[in-house]
Amino acid sequence: MGCFYFDKELYFRYTSRTNYMRQSQLFTKTIKETPKDETSLNAQLLLKAGFVYKEMAGVYGFLPLGLRVIKKIENVIRTEMNKVGGQEITLSSLQNKETWEPTNQWDDAEVDIWFKTKLKNDTELGLAFTHEAAITKMMKNYILSYRDVPKLLYQFQTKFRNEVRAKSGIMRTREFVMKDMYSFSRNISEHESLYEKIKQAYTEIFNQLGLGDITYITTASGGVFSKFSHEFQVVTDAGEDTIYIHKEKKLAINKEVFSKDILSELELSETDLVESKASEVGNIFNLGTRFSDALDLTYLDEQGDSQKVIMGSYGIGPARVMGTIVETLSDDRGIVWPENIAPYTIHLLALGNNEEVIAAAQSAYTKLLEKNIEVLFDDRSEISNGEKFKDADLIGCPFRVVVSEKSLAAGGLEIKGRKEEKSEVLAFDNLLARFL
Ligand code: ATP
Ligand code: MG
Repeated sequence: MGCFYFDKELYFRYTSRTNYMRQSQLFTKTIKETPKDETSLNAQLLLKAGFVYKEMAGVYGFLPLGLRVIKKIENVIRTEMNKVGGQEITLSSLQNKETWEPTNQWDDAEVDIWFKTKLKNDTELGLAFTHEAAITKMMKNYILSYRDVPKLLYQFQTKFRNEVRAKSGIMRTREFVMKDMYSFSRNISEHESLYEKIKQAYTEIFNQLGLGDITYITTASGGVFSKFSHEFQVVTDAGEDTIYIHKEKKLAINKEVFSKDILSELELSETDLVESKASEVGNIFNLGTRFSDALDLTYLDEQGDSQKVIMGSYGIGPARVMGTIVETLSDDRGIVWPENIAPYTIHLLALGNNEEVIAAAQSAYTKLLEKNIEVLFDDRSEISNGEKFKDADLIGCPFRVVVSEKSLAAGGLEIKGRKEEKSEVLAFDNLLARFL
């Protein structure tokens, strides 16, 4: 008879999503010193906790913990985009000069943030800073008659922007993934109903991301027939925008467009508004026929007459959202992640090298992962208890579960919410029940 060794951890690692990690295996380490070249809190905390890697100013990579968070943020957004009928695509970063000439956007005098490059034969190319022109050109292949509209397309795609300033950590970078959605409608009323639907979807997204209370739909510049666009602005001193907010109505006006006219249009009185710094985490634009005129995107209506497609664009920057969450929700001990986007739900700490403690922690870890509960297991034997606690606060998982001689003597595992001061000891089964 052969001896069959069944390693549950390996089994789960290769058969399901890796919802767990041993900290002893994690290649990233937390850093004690605050990086000197970073002035923004989000970059300081994310670098110290090992979520991101800095390649250069304004350019960051995402490490295992950070990648988990950014993918979860993307999934919250993706779910809502699918609910409004969005179809996901990815367009290329390399862009043809000809695509951007009809709207004058190839011109450096019009757009000063291009990263441009060349083929070996000197043909000019650009790295996309957005995709309106590219998607309009593409849709000429697919929108022919009124039966082909309305349509909503979206992507999570890397944009390149030669931003002048890059002092806000991951909130303003020169390479970043944007969720950009584009709408194609037959007429203004169809466009407006889609625009409203997406505005609602955005509100839902920022609620789910834990920013609902401090996010204001803000009237801003841009937009064709309505003259204005709407930005989703999160109140934070780390933001680069200035807005005037009406707390009760949950509305704001961007300083760029603040005027008596807008006040009366929105039926707001200046005395009810409060000035605040804010971070633009998303925006929705009415493009009208700007792109369909320039690139000739039309459809044949029921009478066989050619009509211009009405367009809208809708952006969110997942990394800016992540940075904004760190800026607004963290405390003096570290990051505090909302539960649905935390890298792991539970940070399980085994304290000391007592065999019974190690065995109990291992067993808890295995049972939690069998139930698909996300666990980061601090199984490092050479690290002091104090450092383990500090790391748990810095990394910011919603729940810290400690296994120690003391907790076992008290009947189980000690659990504490990241924001709570008091902990509680529970038998494993009772602890598990809280997460099922
Ligand atoms: P901003 O006014 O902050 O420069 P924008 O108005 O140019 O941004 P859009 O081009 O509409 O922004 O981009 C859509 C979303 O992408 C923004 O709401 C923001 O969340 C995100 N975003 C824009 N620029 C950056 C950047 N440099 N780094 C990270 N995210 C960004
Ligand atoms: Mg803007």
